Amino acid sequence: MENVHVAPVAGPELESGYIRIEGDRIAEVAAGPAPEAPGVPRIDGTGCLATPGLVNTHHHLYQWASQGLAQDATLFEWLVALYEVWAAMDAEVVEGAATAGLSWLALSGCTTTSDHHYIFPKGRGDLLAAEIEAARAVGLRFHPARGSMDRGQSKGGLPPDEVVEELDDILNATAEAVDAYHDPSFSSMVRVAVAPCSPFSASAELMTESAALARAKGVRLHTHLAETLDEDEHCREQFGLRPVDYMHKLGWLGPDVWFAHAVHLSDHDIGKLAATGTGSAHCPSSNGRLGAGIARVSEMLGRGANVGLGVDGNASSELTPLAGEMRQALLFQRARYGPRALTARQALELATLGGARNLGRQDELGSLEPGKLADIALWRVDGPHTAAVTDPVCALVFGPVPPLARVLVGGRTVVSGGELRTVPQDEAGRAGVRAQRRLARLARERGFTAPEQIH
Ligand SMILES: [Zn+2]
Repeated sequence: MENVHVAPVAGPELESGYIRIEGDRIAEVAAGPAPEAPGVPRIDGTGCLATPGLVNTHHHLYQWASQGLAQDATLFEWLVALYEVWAAMDAEVVEGAATAGLSWLALSGCTTTSDHHYIFPKGRGDLLAAEIEAARAVGLRFHPARGSMDRGQSKGGLPPDEVVEELDDILNATAEAVDAYHDPSFSSMVRVAVAPCSPFSASAELMTESAALARAKGVRLHTHLAETLDEDEHCREQFGLRPVDYMHKLGWLGPDVWFAHAVHLSDHDIGKLAATGTGSAHCPSSNGRLGAGIARVSEMLGRGANVGLGVDGNASSELTPLAGEMRQALLFQRARYGPRALTARQALELATLGGARNLGRQDELGSLEPGKLADIALWRVDGPHTAAVTDPVCALVFGPVPPLARVLVGGRTVVSGGELRTVPQDEAGRAGVRAQRRLARLARERGFTAPEQIH
């Protein structure tokens, strides 16, 4: 890749340089023209900006099939409405939704994504296998987090009992998922995390047993935390503690943990996350859509806590592109703290190295450095809407998402010329529509709430 402006995230930017790739890794990043290498394929990056591929650290791919519902609801109202639809899902819904969702991520510069899947209705096929297969087809690095809920309404939780599982079933299925799919190697395409859904849908026992399982298996831990004030109130009423203190009590703070959202944190909470190396996935579009509040990202970074970005499920972010979350993060922080709260380059770091740290892959991903994996996004910043901007990183973060000239995952082309090259792009879109229609039909047939009944 040559004649390109390189923003490596770690190390100095190069106005015109090249990136040499050997196998699935970066061999060299340097200024000036690329050396002659007869027979080696070359990508001309003239007019483009090269960044590390973006890393998405919070998602619910299945939610592609339930967008646009409960449009003016709070998180708890929205969840209560949608649990009743999600209860009808099966593996076919998940595969179609994941194919569409992963394609959309690739088309917004994402090369690695996690997914938090936490609803496993009995007898509906292997939902985790369905999304892992979709990720393999689309060609992204995938960190599926085997989610779970065991605290239904009859136990004081928020979800209806038909979408929760028994503790032993969860632990067995999660251990099996790790054994079957988790690959700890440097170039890994699939790593599994353990991920009880939230304090208001998972019991304390599920949380502690999950932490023990994850640590025994050497995999990471993920959950939703401190997303809304309703959750804060729920934790104080039910557990006598605010969310971060509750997690601390359960052994859920540490460098192997990352939380989704982390919006409602006190100074004391931020100090705890920073001191323990616990990461957070900032999801500004979802938090804005649900009116949840906005995380104190600027202060968290200032105190040394790690923050990555997440698009969150498509039903609460309504198809936000991952690249657009850099802009949302920047704008929300500036709206709250003023114009020096977050720079364009800090926003890019959240989307790349910050995400890689959340997933424990900062040695492999998140910056363009020799020895790291060749996961690269090449943005076209000479188009009509960015041609007047002399700083390409500013064009990428401040403006509309630029077109992608290329997305490489381990040196393999996943997107070129703005088109998906691994699966037919039109078919990926149709798979998402089929998933949405199938979920609605299954909901009607099984007597659950149909999407058209939700307002
Ligand atoms: Zn979420």
